Formats: sequence, C-alpha cells, structure tokens
Amino acid sequence: MDMNFAPPWPEQELSPDSLFGCLIRTAVDGIMVIDDLGLIQVYNAACVRLFQYAEAEVLGQNVKMLMPTSYRDQHDDYLAHFKKTGEARIIGIGREVSGQRKDGSIFPMYLSVGDGMLYGKRVFIGIVHDLSALYQEREAYETHLLSLREELVHVARVSELGQVSAGIAHELNQPLTAMLNYANAARRLSASGNAEDMQKVQAVIGKVAQQAERAGQIVRRMRDFLEKRAGQRAFDDIVEIVDDAMALGLIGAKASNIQTHFEPEAGLPAVLVDRVQIQQVLVNLLRNAVEAMEQAERRQLTVTAARQGEDRIEVTVADTGHGIADAIASQLFKPFITTKDHGMGIGLAISKTIIEAHGGTMTVEPNPGGGTIFRFSVPVDAAAAQIERIKSH
Ligand code: ADP
Repeated sequence: MDMNFAPPWPEQELSPDSLFGCLIRTAVDGIMVIDDLGLIQVYNAACVRLFQYAEAEVLGQNVKMLMPTSYRDQHDDYLAHFKKTGEARIIGIGREVSGQRKDGSIFPMYLSVGDGMLYGKRVFIGIVHDLSALYQEREAYETHLLSLREELVHVARVSELGQVSAGIAHELNQPLTAMLNYANAARRLSASGNAEDMQKVQAVIGKVAQQAERAGQIVRRMRDFLEKRAGQRAFDDIVEIVDDAMALGLIGAKASNIQTHFEPEAGLPAVLVDRVQIQQVLVNLLRNAVEAMEQAERRQLTVTAARQGEDRIEVTVADTGHGIADAIASQLFKPFITTKDHGMGIGLAISKTIIEAHGGTMTVEPNPGGGTIFRFSVPVDAAAAQIERIKSH
C-alpha cells in the first residue's frame, strides 16, 4: 500500500456497522472510490474477486492498473479533460469496457461511474459488473446461430440443385451416350485390324477421353456445390464463378429457347468471397429468371460483372420475364414469400443474407424493356472484408 494513502474521510465511515461499510462489503458488484487524480480510495471485496488484487495492493494506486495497457495511457488525459470540460464518456453514463486481472487476463465488464463530493473533495464512484458469463453465453448463442444459418444455407442449396436434377441427369447422359457410341466405333474399327483403322481408333479414344472429362466436370461442379462446409472466403475470379454458376443454373435453359449472355468487364480484379455461396446466389437468380420467362415471347437473360468504385464488383442478372408480381414486391427479400406452387420462397432471402454477410448489397429493379434486373455487389479487397468483420461484431 502507498504509505501516503490517506482517504479524506474518518475511519469509521467504512466500519462494518456503518451503512456504507456494510454496503460495500456485501455488494455483489465491485465498488470503487477514486479521487480526482484517479487514485483508489475504496476497493471492496467483490473487486478483490474480480481483479484478483488484494485491497492492500491497490489502495492509493492509480486505477489504471486495473485496465488493459491499451486504455491506460488515455486514462489520465480523459480524467483531466473531463475535469476541465465536464465532457463525459463514462462518468454519469456507464458502458461496457475491459478490465485486466492481476494475472494479466482481460475480461468484459460494465462500468458505471458517478461523480460526487465527499468531505470537500471530489470523488468518483465506480461500480463494476462482471460480464464474462454473459459474454460466454452470447458467444455460444452466436456460434449456435451461425451453425443454424450455415445449415439453412446448405439446405437451400441442396433444394436449389434438386430443382434442376432432371436437367443434370440429361446433361450427364449426353457425354455418356457419346462415350458409348465412340466405344462401339472403336471396337468395330479395331476388329478390322488394318493400319489405317487403327489410327482412327486412336482418334476415337481421344474423343472418349474428352467426353469423360466433360462428364467429370459436371459431377465436380455438383459436388462442390452440394458439399457441406463452413463458410470460407478466398480471393477468386468472378468470371469463373459466374461461368460455373451459369453451367449449373442454366441447365435446360437452351431447350426452353432462352438466349443467354455473360458480359464481364475486361480485367476485373479478384473478389474476396465464399465461392460456393456466391454461386448459390447466382444459381438462385438464374433459375428465377428462367422461370419468369417461361411464358414470355422474348427470352433473354443477360449477366454482367463490372467494377463498382474502388473496392467492389457489381453483378447483374437481367431477364425479360413477367416482372415481379405487385403483391409481393415490397416483401420480396423476406423468407417464405413465393408466387410459385412448389416454391419455398427462401431463395432470395438467403441470397440477400449471403451478400450482406459479404458486406455487399442486393437490390431489384424493373428491366426497362420488360422483366426484372437483380443487382448485387461483392468486395474485391481485404479492406472491404475488414469493414464487414467490424460490422458483424
Ligand atoms: P421461390 O423461387 O421458391 O419462390 P425466391 O425467394 O427465389 O423463392 O423467389 C421469391 C419470389 O420472387 C418468386 O416466387 C417470384 O414470385 C419472385 N421472383 C423472383 N425472381 C423473379 C424474377 N426474375 N422475375 C419475376 N419474379 C421473380
């Protein structure tokens, strides 16, 4: 204890049978009194439990010792500034801050500070409420919410692909049929045994390999899309992401006489995204666009990708379909809003959540020539990702 420590009140103030003495001994929250230089005058038993310092170790010491180093330097300035201007950040208000225990560990606490006069001297009364347990609960709850969200996003993805499963079967069947035909041709040619035919066999086997490659690609895309995985972001090529999503989401579109165009701006920088989730958004928008054009005379689907300012790329998906029904327009991005007999109405809600979790935005507008345009943006660099991380805390 600092030997010069001398509180400005008589000793009996804190005696066990005085009101104040009883109050600070029995309080569950930490109670501290500091003088106008920040020196600790009173430090109750709850503070001992919270900060691990014994009373004798802190009385007369600057209250800074109970704060993490990063706050310590500012504290004197803050106190001086408050005394001069009366401008408060905690005093009279209270807020969540961090405390530091004797062993150096840091814990969250709610600190409220009152400002008063005692025996002619200015004092500050701090009440400290430990938030560690609450934070742990909150963290566990957030982790739980996050895993539920990932689960839902995955279920939606499976359902999305389920809707094109007939098309996928057809798409896979094409290279398989071609392989069968080539294999039969190779067998016939090799049976003749002449040299010229053997050369042809070589070429035919090359074609079998090409078709097997094609089938393998379809399977790879599906497997990547359906895989259950924790969200992971990486720098990626938006053009490739859109190409893959179009290959999956537009299966069968050619058969419905839909003309599709992808017009990416040249030289786009890498995006920082969860590839599969962005594909999920695209597949959803593409499927919706295709369905909206089922009865349309003009069936044109245009996808673009272009820079939007310094740190974003904007992707648009425009169709010439029936447009958004008035009845649902104002609630379009809410879950379970659908006009389809077999629709779940979760595609757009999930898409918007995915984009917002990437720090982007998703909007819709009418296509001037009839139909609908969806727009969304994704970040291209670490700075944008940083903003998003801060927002999610
Ligand atoms: P679902 O496709 O299961 O209905 P979504 O959330 O993907 O769920 O879409 C919700 C509703 O939004 C659709 O039922 C449809 O009415 C409307 N919608 C979405 N995309 C378009 C579009 N491109 N053109 C017209 N309406 C659309």
